[in-house]
Amino acid sequence: MDATAVRVAVEKARRAQRDWACLTVAERGHRAQIFAEALIAREEELCDLISREAGKPMQEAFVHEVSASAIVGQYFAKQAERMLAPREVNLTLAKHRKATLHYAPRGVVGLITPWNFPLFMPLRDLFLAVIAGNAVVLKPSEVTPLIALKAKELWDQAGLPSELFQVVTGYGATGAALIDAGIDFCVFTGGVSTGRRVAGMCGERLIPCVMELGGKAPLIACSDADIELTARGAVYGGFANAGQVCIGVERVYAHNSIAERLEKRMVELTQSLRVGDPQKGSVDVGAIIFPKQIDVAEAHIRDATAKGAHVAAGGRRRAGGGQFFEPTVLTGCNHSMTVMTEEIFGPIVPVMRVSSDEEALSFANQSHLGLNAYVFTKDRTYGAALAARVEAGSVLVNDVLTNGGMPEVPFGGIKQSGFGRVLGADSLREMCHVRHVNTERVALGSDNPLWYPYTDKGLSRTRKLLGLVLGGGGLLARVGRALRS
Ligand code: NAD
Repeated sequence: MDATAVRVAVEKARRAQRDWACLTVAERGHRAQIFAEALIAREEELCDLISREAGKPMQEAFVHEVSASAIVGQYFAKQAERMLAPREVNLTLAKHRKATLHYAPRGVVGLITPWNFPLFMPLRDLFLAVIAGNAVVLKPSEVTPLIALKAKELWDQAGLPSELFQVVTGYGATGAALIDAGIDFCVFTGGVSTGRRVAGMCGERLIPCVMELGGKAPLIACSDADIELTARGAVYGGFANAGQVCIGVERVYAHNSIAERLEKRMVELTQSLRVGDPQKGSVDVGAIIFPKQIDVAEAHIRDATAKGAHVAAGGRRRAGGGQFFEPTVLTGCNHSMTVMTEEIFGPIVPVMRVSSDEEALSFANQSHLGLNAYVFTKDRTYGAALAARVEAGSVLVNDVLTNGGMPEVPFGGIKQSGFGRVLGADSLREMCHVRHVNTERVALGSDNPLWYPYTDKGLSRTRKLLGLVLGGGGLLARVGRALRS
């Protein structure tokens, strides 16, 4: 769709938003809940389309896409009224005044999304935006537009205001046109280099934005890690969605004392995975989205093996046609290899041996990206303490990936993985303007010592007041007395 079509979509969305914003939060939540239920009612049709368009195994289409979307929708539908309720803020100095924060929708939210979670990414942000009272114009990835259009069809069939949610399909230029079409807020999910351009465009137009960019999640396998659990976590975390996950396990730092056993078990598990077309039967690892992504995987493997890494499992395109790549475990890796430092976004898990957990932590933090990270240890207290020192938006101990679908907690990155958060109560509020309304608790009358005229008496009263507050007094009555004295 060209710039004119995008502009028309934004204008329609803006008109629809005015009526939508007049509904109470509870009413908007109720309507969103109907859409969430429609997703579940039509899950087989959605899963089939996701599987055909993006090449995902059915289990992933159901768990990571359809049910994850519905869970987010239901959660915010129920919790939004509480989260967006006006909030009173305790004022330290101006005790005689009452400050209340109100959350007002921003208007039209533009969503620009990638292909790797073609239903979940758009719908996660759609639920947040509309429950907060906004309209949405979505620009899905050019390689997965059908799923977005199917979601729009279900939205309309569920009886929600059709113009409130618009889908504009096209390449990057359509996304750029969306930012230029007068949106009030932008949530971008995609690669770092595109994110830079999108953030630049938003900056020029002073459009607030959230940037959900790439990841390079480290997995720290501590000396006391449970081998079976860690191996399974690394294999599932690395190969789910054929490794095309922004929070996928992209590098393992294995303590020397367990490395050999861990690598051996990872290889066994990897070799047992069934790779292939999900439309032709049950598989564990589906397709790679497009040929370019296979080229990236091969380039990483070439670079790593040239520098001494060993291909312990997989390592090649699968023979017999189609865009399939064998799940690959690389051992003997180090930070001179791109596979340990650059985003892979394919089914490769490189393992580097380290002599201590501290060394693992130090390497984990040597990255320009910081989205998710993982720590495996039998000691929960130690694991939590180590996790708190990893430079990432989220760190899971003895688990992988699951936080991407936890609506209660913020999701997002630091460093070049982006800024802003989706999910969690703050992200719902971020979809709003915060409006501070300030009223009187105690009337000062027209004789306010802070106002004109400036007099010695006024200055001395102000000094007295400040003394009260800084001196730990500050009770409402005392402040009132001081101001009136
Ligand atoms: P991409 O950056 O190529 O594209 C993302 C979206 O941006 C697409 O819809 C694309 O059409 C659009 N786009 C491209 N150029 C644009 C422009 N100039 N202006 C506006 N929009 C433009 O990313 P991708 O290949 O679709 O997805 C893979 C990347 O997404 C990976 O790097 C991955 O790590 C990242 N990702 C991040 C998260 C997260 O939550 N942090 C989640 C999923 C994927």
